[in-house]
Amino acid sequence: MFWTGELIARTAPVRRRVAPPPWASPLAGKARAAYLGMAIGDALGASVEFMTPKEIQHQYGAHCEITGGGWLRLKAGQVTDDTTMALALGKAILSAGHVDALAAATAFDNWMRGKPVDIGNTVRRNLIQFRKTGHPEAQPSEHDAGNGAAMRVLPVALATYGQPAEQVIAASRAQAHVTHHNALSDACCETLIFMVQDFLAGQTADQVRSQRVVPLIEQFPIYAYDRKRSENPSGYVVDTLHAVLQGFFATDNFEDCLVDVVNRGGDADTTGAIVGLLAGAYYGYDAIPKRWLRALDEITRLQCEKQAEALIELSRGKPAQPADQTP
Ligand code: MN
Ligand code: MN
Repeated sequence: MFWTGELIARTAPVRRRVAPPPWASPLAGKARAAYLGMAIGDALGASVEFMTPKEIQHQYGAHCEITGGGWLRLKAGQVTDDTTMALALGKAILSAGHVDALAAATAFDNWMRGKPVDIGNTVRRNLIQFRKTGHPEAQPSEHDAGNGAAMRVLPVALATYGQPAEQVIAASRAQAHVTHHNALSDACCETLIFMVQDFLAGQTADQVRSQRVVPLIEQFPIYAYDRKRSENPSGYVVDTLHAVLQGFFATDNFEDCLVDVVNRGGDADTTGAIVGLLAGAYYGYDAIPKRWLRALDEITRLQCEKQAEALIELSRGKPAQPADQTP
């Protein structure tokens, strides 16, 4: 019957359009892929956060779809503190026009008041301290070596792209020390930022390993990683970076990279977010599986896309958008 096709067309589910409009430049495209990679890694990993690799295998075989759930009982495509803190930081950078410690601390404090789905202990403790003192730099502490500052470095990497290394490092520490004033955390944050910037500049994985990872391990031998030491990574920044680096350099495409890392369990949303931002910057937008882009919460996806482009424009010397228009 002639109308059957029409009926099917009308009742077929509307597929969300994920093809992006043409972006301003290839650089902006890679920046966008890094942001989306972070959010996708967070959403994918959150389902298996705090599980062991054996538990994941038992429950999922291999966990490779964005399904939500997990201990936070997330909706499919929902992200956690890793992505929402990065977005809060990015917005503060765009409003201030540069990376500013007080603006970052204020943004994180407002973020905490919004009752986020999850929050790290060190983040909470040092933001409460900021409320008391108004001083946006936590006391140095050898105990504050969690991954909470490292998970949100991406907006700093984009905003400071092309700047001299000392300025990049100062910006990294300004945001990191709001909650994590610790040498191992600093080293991780700075390594990740320089890796992202090298990938945006078109460097290969081998080049970036010898320029950024080898010197890190020379300075901090604790960062030497192997497969065995990167199973079931904790929130300790060293364990986190072991899993991220081992997984990133052992795989050769975006999807395998994220699946490999989140299936190690442990702090899987955070290892997923961090390896996702590296993989996005390196492999680019077209390498991101479309099913993951479709599954990601749509408001989050749009915020990531807009913020990535605005931060890259900021790094190119274009004026930041007015505060009320920033994504
Ligand atoms: Mn999280
Ligand atoms: Mn986590």
